[in-house]
Amino acid sequence: MSPLLSVEMVDIRSQYHRLKPEIDKALSEALESSVFINGPDVKSFREELSAYLNVPFVIPCANGTDALQIALMALPLEPGDEVITPNFTFISTVEVLVLLKLKPVLVDVDPETFNINPDKIRAAIGPKTRAIIPVHLFGQAAPMNEIMQIARENNLFVIEDNAQSLGSWFVYPDGSRTRTGSMGHICSTSFFPTKPLGCYGDGGALMTNDPALAEKMQMIVNHGAKVKYHHEVIGVNSRLDSLQAAILRVNLRHLDDFITRRQSAAEYYNARLGGHPKIRIPVQTRFGTHIYHQYTLTLSAVNRPVIQLKLREAGIPSMVYYPVPLSLQKAFSFAGYLPGDFPVTESLCESVLSLPIHTEMKKEELDYICTTLLKIIDNER
Ligand SMILES: *Cc1c(COP(=O)(O)O)cnc(C)c1O
Repeated sequence: MSPLLSVEMVDIRSQYHRLKPEIDKALSEALESSVFINGPDVKSFREELSAYLNVPFVIPCANGTDALQIALMALPLEPGDEVITPNFTFISTVEVLVLLKLKPVLVDVDPETFNINPDKIRAAIGPKTRAIIPVHLFGQAAPMNEIMQIARENNLFVIEDNAQSLGSWFVYPDGSRTRTGSMGHICSTSFFPTKPLGCYGDGGALMTNDPALAEKMQMIVNHGAKVKYHHEVIGVNSRLDSLQAAILRVNLRHLDDFITRRQSAAEYYNARLGGHPKIRIPVQTRFGTHIYHQYTLTLSAVNRPVIQLKLREAGIPSMVYYPVPLSLQKAFSFAGYLPGDFPVTESLCESVLSLPIHTEMKKEELDYICTTLLKIIDNER
């Protein structure tokens, strides 16, 4: 039987079609200028993103993984220093720490918000701890108030990994708010096409409120040089190219609308799927807005692979972010973590399921996904 509808996990093509006149114009102007590296769009994008986030310094780079690496290179860290980071996230944090001979110290997450658990951070601090890398996972802020407090008390640096939540707000207890990616010593982000603010290739950026760190990172991304051919520190080559910057300028103008579109899809899902005994819908914290980079359910008492298979047969993709805790990745086995060390992360890896969510979702698709998923879960043996 062929599926009634074929749904996309993320639909960048339809988004492009909707914005085509603006994107095509931006691209043809950038092509006409023919300054493909550090062209005028790169400079304008920096200024526009800085204004959007209300952070004075934005340093574009080649991707979100580079951004994390450059942030760590800019801080006064020594080989063997420990950096605390969540176990339930993408591999980038651990990867760059290991490459720089720093020691990732993984901590467990909150079972409801999926974000790093501050009590576990406190418990993981030792004499060699120098920094914390919280990740704002799936579209909402990690508990930054507590994290910054812990950092101040223990003299630690904080690098916010904002690849999945650019555009969301962190709300302080007094009700005032600031963007995620504006609170730590450094913030990193990615413009991979499927991220909340994406381009049509690879891209990334660093943000900071600290002029000295900004200057250092600007040097590191450019071979460690302020003046061409005069290299002050060992750096890398990590650039955002002008064509990507031209696309990002258009997408940044639409970011708030992209977010509203994702939020209304999530509201629809919540209304239809909330309350089912086997489904926990995403939990929204009191200290932030959720921009639903992912719409992630936690399922209980179901056979997840069977559900995914039946969804696929109905033309509905679904994904497991993330199937394996970082602590149990083969590449990181030398760290010596064992099954059972991180009960929350391990249980999430077995029970989460992310449904399609993007800026172009149609009501009929959402309806079809919910009806089909509920039918599958209720008929499952
Ligand atoms: C996507 C992502 C990255 C890496 O970004 P790239 O641009 O793909 O290198 C890092 N951290 C998190 C949390 C991400 O989701």
